[in-house]
Amino acid sequence: MTKLTRRQALAAGAAVPLAAAMGSPARAAAPMMGAGMAPYHRFRLGGFEVTTLLAGTRTVPEPQKIFGLNVTPETFAAASAAAMIPTDKAQFFFTPTVVNTGSELILFDTGLNPAGITDALAAAGYSPDQVDKVVITHMHGDHIGGLSGEAGETFANAAYYTGATEFDAWDMSGNEGFEAKVRPLADKTTFLDDGGAVASGVTAMAAFGHTPGHMAYMLESDGAQLVLGADFANHYVWSLAHPEWEVLYDRDKEMAAATRKRMLGMMAADKVPFIGYHMPFPGIGFVEARDSGYRYVPASYQFMLG
Ligand SMILES: [Zn+2]
Repeated sequence: MTKLTRRQALAAGAAVPLAAAMGSPARAAAPMMGAGMAPYHRFRLGGFEVTTLLAGTRTVPEPQKIFGLNVTPETFAAASAAAMIPTDKAQFFFTPTVVNTGSELILFDTGLNPAGITDALAAAGYSPDQVDKVVITHMHGDHIGGLSGEAGETFANAAYYTGATEFDAWDMSGNEGFEAKVRPLADKTTFLDDGGAVASGVTAMAAFGHTPGHMAYMLESDGAQLVLGADFANHYVWSLAHPEWEVLYDRDKEMAAATRKRMLGMMAADKVPFIGYHMPFPGIGFVEARDSGYRYVPASYQFMLG
């Protein structure tokens, strides 16, 4: 006969009346599902429908080596603690946006690869061949990656738009991604300068620095405005509270910081919301002036009110 310890006997004794009281047979616990979030977020902006698409997300170690190159670890730690985020890792998001103007479907940036953008579009109810125009804000791999792949061009019916300065800067670089993904589409591409239009209510804004010809876009419909900021600021805390902090991925660090300050100042003063490609998904928020920098205010229900 197996002898129970006093503790086991007590546990067994306690379990019986509980199970009986519940009146149901024992069953397995529901499986753990892992973290999850909806891969798209859609709202109205005047007469436009705007949908942000989560084309990828990943955890990245040692974020100070990316976002705080010119500050001490103590300064970086203090800013992070104030915003209740850790210093040893950060979560990256890759968020293309699709805008339905009522007459055209316009996609801004394409994620890391065709599968990411195709899956996110499908979740939002779109197929790649519905996309009329693809706008490339700048030519880093996480923005051009979805343009084409082993299956060929991802967006069979699209015309392409990008900044003239941006294309020219990469044209002579010999960059592998540019040669594979962007150059083959050059004949179908319209090159924009500051103030150039992709469609009525979709206007290019020079936001140089992150790359030589990086462009943001102003969306305007029925008096409602929204900035598609792309990569003018790449972290919701470190790049907004301290726009002067140097960022590894900014090609011209001084120009990128000046662009950040100018755009954040405009958004805070005019209370214009923005979508940031690397902001925490769903990537839409407002900018509040705070101390010597700014604070990101994620949108709540402002865009659900019609
Ligand atoms: Zn990027």
